[in-house]
Amino acid sequence: MEATSANTVNSGFVGIKFCQECNNMLYPKEDKENRILLYACRRCQHQQAADNPCIYVNKITHEIDELTQIVTDVVSDPTLPRTTDHPCPKCHSSDAVFFQAQSARSEDRMTLYYVCRNQHCLHRWTE
Ligand SMILES: [Zn+2]
Ligand SMILES: [Zn+2]
Repeated sequence: MEATSANTVNSGFVGIKFCQECNNMLYPKEDKENRILLYACRRCQHQQAADNPCIYVNKITHEIDELTQIVTDVVSDPTLPRTTDHPCPKCHSSDAVFFQAQSARSEDRMTLYYVCRNQHCLHRWTE
């Protein structure tokens, strides 16, 4: 079945905020130094952190370490291919699952991800 995106366009909308000081509308503004989303008033100097900075949180964690985003549950997924040719760099077990996914760092590049099947290790790495 074809998925329509028409109904999801506004799903990320967080609502209009008003300045506590002068009651004017606040505009979203990126704090590049602290990498957070702010709402700033254009009339006075008031600004506040956004309540729902989900987009920015995702962006930051991706850049820190996309490997931590991989759920280790994938090791019990029977549909994933397994490899014995790529020993775990941490525990040296030669039983891992692997899958290909789009890299968070470069959107047009596919990356191979490996997850160690040793239940005490579950280390994740890329080539
Ligand atoms: Zn204001
Ligand atoms: Zn391991």
